[in-house]
Amino acid sequence: MPELPEVETIKRGLEKVILGKKITEVCVNNPLVIREPAPAVFKRSLEGLTIKNILRRGKLLILELSNGQALTIHLKMTGQLVYPGKAKNSRVSFHLAGGKVLDFNDQRLFGELRVVRDWKKLKFVQGLGPEPFDLTSADFKDMLSKKKTKIKPLLIDQGFISGIGNLYAAEILFRAKINPERSSQSLTGKEKEALYKEIKQVLSSAIKHGGSSVDNYVRLSGKPGDYARFHQVYGREGKPCFVCGNPVKRIAQGGRGTYFCPKCQK
Ligand SMILES: [Zn+2]
Repeated sequence: MPELPEVETIKRGLEKVILGKKITEVCVNNPLVIREPAPAVFKRSLEGLTIKNILRRGKLLILELSNGQALTIHLKMTGQLVYPGKAKNSRVSFHLAGGKVLDFNDQRLFGELRVVRDWKKLKFVQGLGPEPFDLTSADFKDMLSKKKTKIKPLLIDQGFISGIGNLYAAEILFRAKINPERSSQSLTGKEKEALYKEIKQVLSSAIKHGGSSVDNYVRLSGKPGDYARFHQVYGREGKPCFVCGNPVKRIAQGGRGTYFCPKCQK
């Protein structure tokens, strides 16, 4: 699933090409991805509006529109935004003034598109924890000491901190040398600091390289992201750890696969 770096990459891509453009026509080819309002209203309410601002909150993309409303896009598992699109095999195509098209593709149809009056009032948004780049080290340490859960499930809990998913949690914990099974309360001050630093470091580096294309994620241009070649543990079960040479291990935590090096991560 696209996480903060992938959504941020798409957001930055969109800013360069569709900001200030008018939506001339919306073609809904599969209404299942439209969560609100009804597909016909969704289409009608967007046509003729201009894209004023493009934001990201956690893994959610927000396109603020000229009438004060917003189009929110959650890519979920297999959603893609491609520009210029082909308006062929897309779930929804947004035709823009000038003739180009923004395609929303989604193989598994878990994606969620909404047109809402106030995106900040979405229940999902209100439940989100702070943005990693807005957090101070002191706040983060305080947040950790209040939780008793295991650190890996905590990092991917969107209510705790927003934008980190299964892939980046594994990469962050490896670099911070913390075992994913540790309880958050058991972390020392030094470990908390390392974790804080690695969250910012890993996410910024992944953004710099256009995100990780491991499943369906592509950049706005349709090209894959480059960050997968920097992965240390994610998807590397049984392969030698780049630091110590011992095999990378995969365990299940809350139904999700967690990759780590039992020797490097204590
Ligand atoms: Zn190792």
